Amino acid sequence: MPIQIIVEKCTGCTLCVKACPFDAIRIMDKSGDSGLASSSQSHKKAVIDLNICNLCGACVPVCKLKAILLEKSVGVASSAKADLKDYKGVWVFCEQKKGAVQSVSYELLGKAGDLAAKLNTRVSAVLLGHKMNEQANELVWHGADNVYLVEAAELANYQDEPYTNVLVKLIQKYKPEIVLCGATSIGRSLISRVAVKINAGLTADCTGLDIDPKEKLLLQTRPAFGGNIMATIITPNHRPQMATVRHKVMLPAELNKQRKGKIIREEFGLAGLTSRTKLIEIVDEIETLVNLAEADIIVSGGRGMAGPENFKLLEELAHALGAAVGSSRAAVDAGWMPYSHQVGQTGRTVAPKIYFACGISGQIQHLVGMQSSKIIVAINKDPEAPIFKVATYGIVADLFQVIPAVTKRFKQLLQK
Ligand code: FAD
Repeated sequence: MPIQIIVEKCTGCTLCVKACPFDAIRIMDKSGDSGLASSSQSHKKAVIDLNICNLCGACVPVCKLKAILLEKSVGVASSAKADLKDYKGVWVFCEQKKGAVQSVSYELLGKAGDLAAKLNTRVSAVLLGHKMNEQANELVWHGADNVYLVEAAELANYQDEPYTNVLVKLIQKYKPEIVLCGATSIGRSLISRVAVKINAGLTADCTGLDIDPKEKLLLQTRPAFGGNIMATIITPNHRPQMATVRHKVMLPAELNKQRKGKIIREEFGLAGLTSRTKLIEIVDEIETLVNLAEADIIVSGGRGMAGPENFKLLEELAHALGAAVGSSRAAVDAGWMPYSHQVGQTGRTVAPKIYFACGISGQIQHLVGMQSSKIIVAINKDPEAPIFKVATYGIVADLFQVIPAVTKRFKQLLQK
């Protein structure tokens, strides 16, 4: 059994019950069971429901009597640990569509540069496609020290099998210690397959990445338990450490055409490039949503707008600035704005040059969707509102006075 209670040690103290995030532990009266302790000892014992337990190990350290045995916690053998040292470098899988490198790749290259500097290692981009020489140079200009370029007609468009096979072979050959990928439809489909094939850990949908200064492990932060906590996940026993990151959470790497890097061409036999699925046609999605994700300026409103009719004030300001209108979930839940405008953990992630938060308190679920914005202007009548902790400029005032005044001034300045 991978986890078990040592009944002789357990006193039924309930500490493990409280620690279990999955509600998998119950205290039961075992007085009827044979072989249990004498009457002076407690008959109440912890019982783990193995159908619910996912072996996370949260119960083990809280048990003061060391009455919980988790085999998984023994860790990997020391020889396997030594192998981890063979893995070097930070890789970014750079997604392309119709030959155009997707902007999430530049965001990941920016973050990869920070991580690589902390690890004293190099950044490599992986690019798969057909006739991609120019794009490979673009990746160097955006921070890649190496570009692993695999070109073949079969790789022109994303397909699960050939892309997975090629990336797996590259990872097995070069052994990167970190692999990052966009949390896009393609990224999610690809990287989960790769992680399974190479038996690596994978943290999906990260909103923050860093390096533990002591252990040099990748710290992968993402919302967990429905966004109620931000969990930081590490992968101590397997390599590479793999993470997907949402679009617009990280700032893109700056373009520097003077940068030099190495383009390493790799070829794989036809066998690795075959696919059981056939791509018949690519149909472009019709964009019916407000293009919040690409907007340079966003004017967002929350519960403080006090009603749907007041969003007209934001639309006017947005019109004056050429901005898109966003909203908090509270405004969406109230039916004041359609879901397509929602910014945050369960809405869009945005990173405009300027983000106006009007009547938005700044709860963590909203912040994770907009805190990478370059400039944040918060208008809120409560000086203690958490939004002011991330705001570049804070205006403590009634938004019904501030917004019309600001709109008027912008109209004058921009002559609209
Ligand atoms: P409130 O928190 O009610 O804040 C309203 C603010 O308006 C207050 O700070 C108040 O001082 C100010 N105000 C009121 N009147 C005025 C005035 N006249 N002038 C100036 N200021 C005024 N939220 C999101 O936004 N996006 C998400 O994607 C998201 N996902 C979630 C996922 C989960 C699993 C959960 C549990 C929650 C999620 N939430 C999300 C909800 C989030 O926790 C907050 O409830 C929500 O962001 C609050 O919206 P708000 O700031 O508009 O409202």
